[in-house]
Amino acid sequence: MEFVEPAVYLVAEPRINWVDLGDFLEEAGGGEWYDSKVRPIGVDAQDLIEAGGRMCYRSWKPGLNKNVTRVRKDQDSYLANIIKSGHGSVLEHANFTFIFSNVSRVFTHELVRHRAGSAFSQESLRYVRLDELKFWLPGWAKEDEVLAEECLQVLHKLEQLQEFMAGHFDLDNPDLSFEEKKARTSFMRRFAPEGLATTIMWTANVRTIRHVLEARTAPGAEEEIRLVFDKVGDIMKDTAPALFADFYQIEQYKGTPAWVPGTSKV
Ligand SMILES: Cc1cc2nc3c(=O)[nH]c(=O)nc-3n(C[C@H](O)[C@H](O)[C@H](O)COP(=O)(O)OP(=O)(O)OC[C@H]3O[C@@H](n4cnc5c(N)ncnc54)[C@H](O)[C@@H]3O)c2cc1C
Repeated sequence: MEFVEPAVYLVAEPRINWVDLGDFLEEAGGGEWYDSKVRPIGVDAQDLIEAGGRMCYRSWKPGLNKNVTRVRKDQDSYLANIIKSGHGSVLEHANFTFIFSNVSRVFTHELVRHRAGSAFSQESLRYVRLDELKFWLPGWAKEDEVLAEECLQVLHKLEQLQEFMAGHFDLDNPDLSFEEKKARTSFMRRFAPEGLATTIMWTANVRTIRHVLEARTAPGAEEEIRLVFDKVGDIMKDTAPALFADFYQIEQYKGTPAWVPGTSKV
């Protein structure tokens, strides 16, 4: 039995194929825009979304579309305008992949409700046999010594039950088929607590990340998901600042701040 803290890892983000994009831009008259990019240190997610947006109106430079006489040159203001004008589908081109570790099944149940623009891979407790139970307790619960002690005792008991069942079902017997192990392991997980620390991988596009960040850090959201998405907000502000520039934080009475976008639900 171990107390753990939820952790967030950003494990993947978009990478532009600048060679092919350059070839396309040469044909489309976007050579100047291409040359203005500071490869490889730019933010590919931002450049990709900007490229998607500019393609719509041929706004690589003035005059390519005869209806367009002026174009925004600066990326920050270009992307701010995309967001402000609600052109949210462009944000779907850039996907980011996170691993959330030491998060509970309470958290994962809530996360998977966000279907649009999301992909999930969750640790299987049908295949992975539980031995040590890992668990997160919020700070206020840890500080309440009487409560923490009671919780600890229940968790120890549940951990012992897992150990007992593994022995009872003879799961370490090398002659036991994997099918049998899987069936028994699946039975055993029914006695795992909902707060058990587990792992989930989440891939989401920027439109989705913005929506979930807002919804899941709001005052009414559950404290663990608020804690995790506060970390996601920090990571995204660092990684793709222009796509999250309109978010500001409001301190809440308890726990982590609410992330509020200037433009909601693009
Ligand atoms: C504070 C809080 C409390 C909650 N409490 C409960 C609860 O008590 N019980 C419960 O069951 N759930 C609860 N939920 C979950 C909630 O009902 C939603 O399932 C969850 O927030 C997913 O968000 P979403 O509907 O915006 O879907 P997402 O998948 O995140 O989709 C994003 C947006 O895409 C659009 N969209 C997605 N799918 C469709 C579709 N099929 N048709 C049309 N438009 C679509 C919608 O505009 C949607 O808002 C809670 C959520 C929050 C934030």
